[in-house]
Amino acid sequence: MTTEMLPNWLKQRAFLTPDRTAVSSDERSLTFRELDHEAEEAAQRLNRLLDGTKPAFIGLMIKNRIESIIAVHAVHQLGMAAVMLNHRLGAGELTFQVRDMALTHVIHDEDFAEKANSLEVEGISLSLLFTGDKRPYAPKDHTNLDDTCTVMYTSGTTGSPKGVLQTYGNHWWSAIGSSLNLGTSEKDVWLCAVPLFHISGFSILMRSIIYGMEVRLHASFDEDAIDLELKSGRVTIISVVTNMLQRLMGRIGDGYHENLRCVLLGGGPAPLPLLQACKDKGVPVFQSYGMTETSSQIVTLSPEYSLSKLGSAGKPLFPSQLKIKGAAAPLEEGEIMVKGPNVTMGYHERPEANEKSFEDGWLFTGDIGYVDEEGFLYVLDRRSDLIISGGENVYPAEVESVLLGIPGVTEAGVIGMDDPVWGQVPCAFLVTDRPMTEEEIMKGCKAALASYKCPKKIVFVGELPRNASNKLLRRVLKENMLKGIYDEA
Ligand code: ATP
Ligand code: MG
Repeated sequence: MTTEMLPNWLKQRAFLTPDRTAVSSDERSLTFRELDHEAEEAAQRLNRLLDGTKPAFIGLMIKNRIESIIAVHAVHQLGMAAVMLNHRLGAGELTFQVRDMALTHVIHDEDFAEKANSLEVEGISLSLLFTGDKRPYAPKDHTNLDDTCTVMYTSGTTGSPKGVLQTYGNHWWSAIGSSLNLGTSEKDVWLCAVPLFHISGFSILMRSIIYGMEVRLHASFDEDAIDLELKSGRVTIISVVTNMLQRLMGRIGDGYHENLRCVLLGGGPAPLPLLQACKDKGVPVFQSYGMTETSSQIVTLSPEYSLSKLGSAGKPLFPSQLKIKGAAAPLEEGEIMVKGPNVTMGYHERPEANEKSFEDGWLFTGDIGYVDEEGFLYVLDRRSDLIISGGENVYPAEVESVLLGIPGVTEAGVIGMDDPVWGQVPCAFLVTDRPMTEEEIMKGCKAALASYKCPKKIVFVGELPRNASNKLLRRVLKENMLKGIYDEA
């Protein structure tokens, strides 16, 4: 990307549409003028607290609160990049990230004071940005698209998390790509109950400033409260991950208000029965595919295709491209590669990962998939989780999707188990809401899967290992199995 300047985003937005609502929660709301004003004041206080030092990167350990949004803007107005820390991580994992980024300061929610103080940094309580003395500074006229805006660590599903550098340009193009697909309307209100420290939540903040759109902020995913919002007509778009959508569908009743025009679903695979149920209830699901490295969705499926292309993640957004490594024809499976101005320029201080992950501007995603004749992407699974059984590929996600469709099964994890005959065979770990038998499960699998895909072993467990983003950790299932932890189960 070439060096490009845009007007200072926050100032430009406050100038263009000062009286529009920027953000609202149950407690308060701010217009763009007020948001700019509050961010300016907070930036001046932060400037004083930093006492003349201005680190390139500053950590943020925040909750979904309006004050957190003000803090993010304050950091950016001062010209620093925000390292978005996940407060659900343990002290060891956070220490790794703090050292990796050489952080000296972390702005933290009051509730995370203990955690922040256990790190080798100076903790700055969020409340200090709202009271006390200020030190003026000169706000920048411009937002430089090449500057780093945020650093977010990947979820650590396949290995240890890597710090993804996201520039203003990455966020800009992500927001533009999304709007060219979903359209923007003055009436749009985007409900954010996904964490602000993840790209799923953070990207909503960027769209808010760029489009001039209200963010309806929820502190957490409370399904009763969200259900009410979606039925009231108060919001037009919501971002969800599969588990949230599943919980919402459990209580949907007759359906949602017609104002709800997009339920943006991302973050992981979605079981087909869930997508079908959404279709039946008229829920406008936009299935999407993306990752921290693509600064949000990069491939999205519109509801008009949700039945004819059931299970597809869709086509790339306008500024982006995708291809399947090594595939000479449609339907051939291989590693998904993506390219576009929303794709990160790389991981922070990971020369090896950067070397391995990029080729001529294309990013290796680590995911396997294929595209059909019309260019629709189907994501199969993580390359590292592929099971090869008797020479046939078995994608755990497909087997898990079938298992989750069996009444009584609430969570499913599938991994490969060594086998003298087939090399590897699938093994399923299940959480159920009532006592179930292996026969019941096998019956459900056989009805929907080729026999080599059916689990050869079923283990009922109390819970499945998940990371701080609630993603299933199949590598931990494997480790636990090797350690014999499930032998008694
Ligand atoms: P790490 O890179 O550290 O292993 P992670 O990949 O889980 O962690 P994220 O960036 O949060 O970190 O997640 C992106 C990943 O989520 C994608 O690479 C893909 O594996 C999965 N994913 C996202 N959308 C979909 C989808 N529609 N279908 C299947 N998988 C998806
Ligand atoms: Mg990843």
